[in-house]
Amino acid sequence: MFDKILIANRGEIALRVIRACREMGIASVAVHSTADADAMHVRMADESICIGPPPSSESYLSIPAIIAACEVTGAQAIHPGYGFLSENAGFVQVIEDHGLTFIGPTAEHIRIMGDKITAKETMIDLGVPCVPGSEGGVPDLATAQKLGEEMGYPVIIKATAGGGGRGMKVAQTAADMESAFMTARAEGKAAFGNDEVYIEKYLQRPRHIEIQVFGDGKGNAVHLGERDCSLQRRHQKVFEEAPGPAISAEERAEIGRVCADAVARINYIGAGTIEFLYEDGQFYFIEMNTRLQVEHPVTEAIFGVDLVREQIRVASGLPMSFAQDDLEINGHAIEVRINAETFPGFAPHPGKITAYHAPGGLGVRMDSALYQGYSIPPYYDSLIGKLIVHGRDRREALARLHRSLGELIVDGVETTVPLFHALMAEKDIHTGEYNIHWLERWLEREFES
Ligand code: ADP
Repeated sequence: MFDKILIANRGEIALRVIRACREMGIASVAVHSTADADAMHVRMADESICIGPPPSSESYLSIPAIIAACEVTGAQAIHPGYGFLSENAGFVQVIEDHGLTFIGPTAEHIRIMGDKITAKETMIDLGVPCVPGSEGGVPDLATAQKLGEEMGYPVIIKATAGGGGRGMKVAQTAADMESAFMTARAEGKAAFGNDEVYIEKYLQRPRHIEIQVFGDGKGNAVHLGERDCSLQRRHQKVFEEAPGPAISAEERAEIGRVCADAVARINYIGAGTIEFLYEDGQFYFIEMNTRLQVEHPVTEAIFGVDLVREQIRVASGLPMSFAQDDLEINGHAIEVRINAETFPGFAPHPGKITAYHAPGGLGVRMDSALYQGYSIPPYYDSLIGKLIVHGRDRREALARLHRSLGELIVDGVETTVPLFHALMAEKDIHTGEYNIHWLERWLEREFES
């Protein structure tokens, strides 16, 4: 087992990893930019080291600075969290070249899944059902138009290198194809340096269902059920729950087995998420994320496992601490993502926290790096906390969410908490009848008219 781990991240996820390290008796090293000198992850880690100026490109994304920090502190392994360098195959290669360990999958698996076209081809070969669409990349507009006619509109044009909701454009009709195709390409090029795009049938009312998988890198893998992350704004998740209200035990067992078999066959190591759209009882693969997800705590809550501890274990060469038969669902969990943003405008709102009180009590987990007096810097993601509740069933989880949202105090900046208060009054949230378009349509109806 490692003696010391460096966490190449900040905010709540850095705290999450530090907590796992501490429980395992492993020393932790925080890295930070000059803008984060007073951040909670720096205070909480056993050691900390400044790796550069505020812009991420010169600090949290600087591979030489992070490797140097490992050498200076003697850390043997790096946990990347999510975002930043967590899905950067080149980073993994450099880490290995320096004799260090990356707590995550291999560079090869990150590379395969990071390119959505290759990921889809790989999944088709592994027997995973996919969204109907182009076979590989679409080279030009004429081909795109021809495919649109054959498949039938609407279709979605996606950048193969896309992520975070960027590089995706819907063409509702043939008339939209030219601008959708050009924009998806341009966004892919600008944001990811790759203008290759592909086309998929655009599903009208699917749910976003993702399967948590975990492998030991030696051909063994399990699944930890699904998360329903259908409540999204601009293709970004804001509310996630497990188990999915629309998924039966039989469906879970079946798709879970397909996913666990697929990752076992490629000797996948660590945590991964296989994302699907789900409509009329069918699952359609969209992408695989080769890292810990923001919403992993809902899975931890219902299975009673620590996914970060497990990541560290398998990265150090130990076997997984659970087998498929050990994994049983207990109750229901919901996470809401709280951002420092105006509501309903969703404009970033960094600033000084003048008062902070985290909710507590039975079944409540608040993952946040906030504290009173902390100044949220303007340089990074606006996520400031995740409120996760766990109940014996969905009803209890929702009541607990309602109750704990009422206890939360964040003063000094605007937050998206009012969004969740408003959602608590919606019948569809209580019945679980929503799809990936529900939230945007509701926001339009309630706040834009
Ligand atoms: P990203 O990598 O940017 O997160 P994904 O491929 O995971 O992109 O898709 C993100 C979201 O976009 C999905 O959860 C869904 O809401 C929407 N989406 C993606 N593909 C389709 C599709 N074929 N039909 C309808 N919606 C889609």
